[in-house]
Amino acid sequence: MAADARTTRLAPTPSGSLHIGNARSFLITWALARREGWRVVLRLEDLDIGRVKPGAHDAAIADLRALGIDWDGAPEVQSADLAPYRDALSTLASKGMLFRCDRSRNDIRTAASAPHAEDGETRFPPGLRPPASWPTRVDDWHANHRLLVEPGIERVHDELLGDHTFDPGSEAGDLVVWTKLGVPAYQLAVVVDDARHGVTDVVRGDDLLASAARQQYIARTIGVSHARWWHLPLVYDVDGKRLAKRHGAHSLQALREAGVSRERIAGWCAWSLGLIDTRVALDLRALVELADSKHLQIAARATRAAPTVFRNEDLAWLVQRNHHAT
Ligand code: GLU
Repeated sequence: MAADARTTRLAPTPSGSLHIGNARSFLITWALARREGWRVVLRLEDLDIGRVKPGAHDAAIADLRALGIDWDGAPEVQSADLAPYRDALSTLASKGMLFRCDRSRNDIRTAASAPHAEDGETRFPPGLRPPASWPTRVDDWHANHRLLVEPGIERVHDELLGDHTFDPGSEAGDLVVWTKLGVPAYQLAVVVDDARHGVTDVVRGDDLLASAARQQYIARTIGVSHARWWHLPLVYDVDGKRLAKRHGAHSLQALREAGVSRERIAGWCAWSLGLIDTRVALDLRALVELADSKHLQIAARATRAAPTVFRNEDLAWLVQRNHHAT
């Protein structure tokens, strides 16, 4: 495939068996890529040391393979080489945009005037920035570092969800880009990786739409380009919370053990997103046919307005042995 081919990535955090919501995002990403002839990179995002469990890399790969998903080339493993992230951090420091921050969460909460509404995020108060001048090189790789982010509008154009505006400087303030565990924070790692893996199209859950604005800002500050964005609605539980890996019954491993076929999972994913009208088992070639961008755009917008809830009846449909449409 040409080096300049469009490229997407599957970026699971190997922290436990994937769930049906992850399956929907990954299957749609894969189907869109295969339909459009994009390259697919598998990247295991294992830098969140507290969340990554032993054996989880293989489990994530097994979950994807069992869905029928494939990728091009060997998996990229973030923890295998920290040099690219260190280089990016050094670049931010050389631009005078980086400061070491030893403030505790409590300090920040106390100093912040108002907690951010979503996810209880607290904006880092500018008053807690160290006095100028900031070092232009990184001396301690085991300290938290933040990137300077002044208030300002960041427009995100999403291929599925249209235009959205964010203000990372007002919403989050100075972003943590490196942690005292000696590893980059998610926001920096993802920007560095998407750039070095040649990712032109990021397809992922819409819980990361606001992160796209932060990632655009970081990419611009480092001097790399960012990808096109395609955010897909998530799947929620009956309490309105997004599915999490702790919900055992929704895990792909549990579904496999209950004898659920990949065609049935693909069918549920396509149906729940409104790509097909009836819940039927679907082979992956059919899913690839359905995953054209116009169709996906309509489906994503409608599903964002009326989010998918995974109910007992969905589980019952998945596990039934009889594979006829219901
Ligand atoms: N590893 C992240 C997750 O599992 C996804 C990050 C991304 O797609 O940018 O939620």
